[in-house]
Amino acid sequence: MRLQSYLLDQWMPGEGPTRDLVNPATEEVIAQTTTAGIDFAAALHHARTVGGPALRAMTFAERGGLLKAMSRALYAKREELITLSSRCNGATRGDSKFDIDGATGTLSHYAYIGKTMGDARFTIDGEAEKLSSGARYVGQHVRLPRPGVAVHINAFNFPAWGTFEKIATAILAGMPVVTKPATATSPLTYRMVQILIEEGVVPAGVLGFIAGPAGDLLDHLGPQDCVAFTGSADTAARLRAGPGILERSARINVEADSLNAAVLGPDVGVGDDVWYTFIRNIVKDMTQKTGQKCTAVRRVFVPEAIAGEVVEALVDELSRITVGDPTVSGVDMGPVATAAQLRDCRAGMALLSEVAEIKCGGPDAVSGVGAPEGKGYYIAPTLLFAANAREASVVHRHEVFGPCATVLAYSGEATEAAELVAMGQGCLVSSVYGSDKAWMSDFLMSAACWNGRVVVCSKKVADQTLPPGMVLPNQVHGGPGRAGGGEELGGVRGLDLYTNRTAIQGDRGLLKKILGA
Ligand code: NAP
Repeated sequence: MRLQSYLLDQWMPGEGPTRDLVNPATEEVIAQTTTAGIDFAAALHHARTVGGPALRAMTFAERGGLLKAMSRALYAKREELITLSSRCNGATRGDSKFDIDGATGTLSHYAYIGKTMGDARFTIDGEAEKLSSGARYVGQHVRLPRPGVAVHINAFNFPAWGTFEKIATAILAGMPVVTKPATATSPLTYRMVQILIEEGVVPAGVLGFIAGPAGDLLDHLGPQDCVAFTGSADTAARLRAGPGILERSARINVEADSLNAAVLGPDVGVGDDVWYTFIRNIVKDMTQKTGQKCTAVRRVFVPEAIAGEVVEALVDELSRITVGDPTVSGVDMGPVATAAQLRDCRAGMALLSEVAEIKCGGPDAVSGVGAPEGKGYYIAPTLLFAANAREASVVHRHEVFGPCATVLAYSGEATEAAELVAMGQGCLVSSVYGSDKAWMSDFLMSAACWNGRVVVCSKKVADQTLPPGMVLPNQVHGGPGRAGGGEELGGVRGLDLYTNRTAIQGDRGLLKKILGA
């Protein structure tokens, strides 16, 4: 497969030598790509001047209709996309569905929001407020779409969902998009964009796609552009220092890495319903997408009195996981996505093992079931244990972006649990298991502000609690501090990144006629 970028409403192969992209299950080359020679300045200008005006002329309902059509076109090719995802990205069928259905589901959710927002083209923010002694002179806040381009840069782990959850919010807000998936897993995104173009779903200038390195793309950001970035904290720091952001104030939203926590409260006993949900969620988080989920749990805090039982139960579940080529029947977990990713995971596990004991798995090479001898980027689900949570400081600093978590013992006090969660310096999501109201209140009041989302699993909802790693379009996704300080999704809240709030002061009657508020 020779990938191409789609910019200026045309496919562009790039020039010169290409980079090989490989199937991480077998190391076979599956695609080549390059972006050399592509004029990114022209691509951004085209989106701003052709796609932007077209979208801003549409009502929310019409933009919602466009998202619905995108969702339908992709859903019609669901089986093809699932097969491609397994072939290109080492994802099991379940992992592929998680990514692809997440994409179509989020498009569909925002299509519905668009429908409910009706014939407006922008949003009114709050009531008009009287600004003088008379009733006539008022101030009214509005949110108008930014007349720029939304540049989306995504991590390798969700080439479908990551791309389309961002596209859904930007398009509904009224901004055209240029999207760049991580190069390593871009074949799936390429095919999805190709489907949309083949089906003629997207109006001119509304969607651009980059199949490969971003080159000088971000140097051309203007004052009304914005960047939604998902990836590592290191790359985020580099992007934040770019001239478009520092000098021209293009807006940036960052979704970075995170040492997500799961906390077991002291009232949960072995064999309770809450216990089973706790164990199930941790195993799911560690093994789904081979642990390559920004929301996967990395630190598991358990009262010291029950730590042995927790480790035993998790080791028992994890040792049943079959690692191998995801296209082979019976395989539960595929490889990590790239050779670099495998190197990082192995080095990270070795680092954690300096302060925590490996209870199962570990950094050694494993061969994948059904994979050619010595091929594929396989690693075992790995659980570590540290008896003193506070002293295992590297566990609170270093993210192993793979199937790896550390169980850390604590006293059982809510305040200590909250302090330990905060040692991660900001998480996307944490989950907490327990039904004691006073304990839960103490925990939440201290710990919630260190997280973008907190999943509380208590007795009465133990059978309904969704795995914390699952991001929902109507709940915010993002987190403070180390997690990037960003926020995406959350229903209509997700449109904020793509709109400017302006306070308009003037004659109430005139403003009412113009704004319809
Ligand atoms: P990464 O190396 O930071 O790359 C992320 C994206 O940035 C890729 O598309 C990459 O493109 C691009 N990029 C790199 N340098 C760039 C530059 N100078 N200008 C413009 N774009 C540039 O991260 P990754 O390895 O793909 O993803 C793993 C990390 O992402 C983990 O740390 C994980 O925690 C984090 N993550 C966070 C979330 C979240 O929602 N918070 C979700 C998923 C992953 P190339 O591929 O072409 O280099």
